Order: sequence, then structure tokens, then C-alpha cells
Amino acid sequence: TALLQGKFAVITGAASKRGLGKATARLFAEHGATVAILDLDEAAAKEAAADLGPEHVGMACDVTDHDGAKTVIDALAAEWGRIDILVNNAGITQPLKIMEIAPKNYEAVLDVNLRGTLYCSQAAIPHMRAQKQGKIVNMSSVSAQRGGGIFGGPHYSAAKAGVLGLTKAMARELAPDNVRVNAICPGFIATDITAGMLTPDKLEEIKAGIPMGRPGTAEDVAGCALFLASDLSAYVTGSEVDVNGGSLI
Ligand code: NAD
Repeated sequence: TALLQGKFAVITGAASKRGLGKATARLFAEHGATVAILDLDEAAAKEAAADLGPEHVGMACDVTDHDGAKTVIDALAAEWGRIDILVNNAGITQPLKIMEIAPKNYEAVLDVNLRGTLYCSQAAIPHMRAQKQGKIVNMSSVSAQRGGGIFGGPHYSAAKAGVLGLTKAMARELAPDNVRVNAICPGFIATDITAGMLTPDKLEEIKAGIPMGRPGTAEDVAGCALFLASDLSAYVTGSEVDVNGGSLI
């Protein structure tokens, strides 16, 4: 059965071809949602939306631009009459060690991952409140929970931990409005980008630390996003859901 029939979903950073946002957009569309793909490059966002079918939309949006994000999300709400779901997926990482983080690195990583999550949420919340329903899904990371990952630096861990705090605070404040807010903490997810950065030895070492013995896929994360965006998770709010093959057991 289609879990998101008639719903309108906005997903940030979803133009990346093999990324988690795109896989989420595809699964949401398969479940009956109309999806707006927001990303930095307009042509890439439009192409990603067209991949899903003619009813979906792609728009340029820099999530770090408070006024710009609000303008785009308000325009979408005006056109579609609602914002049912927001997935704050846009994120960047930098493989730096603590003493290598320059002020501009800290700014860039906190800006996209944390500031972007706040700004897009602030843009969507008034519409969700007016509808008396909404779901926000924030992309955090196992890096937030274990103080580092394979590719992320300490600033990435800090930003993604910030996303968890923001998720819980928003969930608490918005619960009376029937707006649920949850976070996903993906573990090591195999994408084209991660594949290109790893030697076979390193991949084996990573797999050895995952009880399920394999990296995750973008579809593994999308399935969790679908659960959190649908009524299957009707009583779930303020949660961080691990999608990591048991990496933290
Ligand atoms: P990705 O690089 O494939 O996609 C990220 C997208 O965000 C890109 O399309 C990029 O253009 C976009 N983006 C960057 N800055 C932006 C901005 N300012 N405004 C709008 N869009 C912007 O990454 P991914 O691997 O699909 O990761 C998606 C999310 O999941 C990120 O938040 C990432 O931190 C998180 N995550 C990924 C993994 C993993 O293993 N891949 C693990 C844990 C968490």
C-alpha cells in the first residue's frame, strides 16, 4: 500500500544521484507523495525531480540562506497548498583532525548541517502548524554518537550532534501542534563517493566493525525515512533512529 498518498514532501540536498536524499525521494514518490527536490544547482535539482516523474519539482535552494530557503519553501507551500513532510538531508563533511579545523571549516560544516536544518524547519513549521500536522526528518549521523566516523571530522560530529539536540527540542515544542520531528543516524552507507575514497583493505576493516557485516545502502536509510514520514510512526517523536547494521551494539 502507498504510505504517502497525496502528501507533499520537501527534501533538501536530494539531487546527488546516488545520495540518501535521492533514494528517499524515489521511495516517497513510489509511495504516492509528490516530492520537491531542493539542492544548490537548479539544473541538477530539476533533473533529479524529472527522474521521479513529471509531477515532481526541483528547485535551487541553499539551505544556509535563511531568506532564500524561506522564499522557496513558502512558494512551494503556496503552489501545493501544504508542506506535509520536510527531510533535512543536505549535509557536507570534511575529513579533518581537531587541530586542522580552521574557522572557515567550522563555519561551513556547521552552516550546512546545523544552520540549514534550523532555517528549513523554520520555513516549513508555520505551514505545518496551520495544517495541524507535519513530519520533519533530520539527517544526523553515527558520527554524532560515537565522536567521529570514517569521513567526518570533529566539526561534523559536533554539527550532527547539534542536529540531535535541535530535533529533540523541536519535537518537544511542536508536539502540541501534531508536528513530529525525528532524526536518522546512518552508519557507514555505501555510495559512489564513499566507494571511491576507500581501499579494499579499509573497506574490510570497516565491515569487520559492523555486526551485520555489510555497509548500508541509500535504500536502507530511505526505508527509515519513509517510516518516520508516514503514519506508521504516529507515536514516534524526538527519536534518533540508528540505521547502522548494529555498529553501536
Ligand atoms: P551527498 O553528498 O551525496 O548529498 C548531499 C547533497 O547536499 C548534495 O546533493 C549537495 O549538493 C547538497 N548540498 C550541499 N550543501 C548544500 C546547501 N548549502 N544547500 C542545499 N544543498 C546542499 O551526501 P549523502 O551521502 O547522500 O548524505 C546525505 C546526508 O546524510 C548528509 O546530511 C550526510 O551528512 C548524512 N550522512 C551520510 C552518511 C553516508 O555514509 N553517506 C552517513 C551518515 C550521515
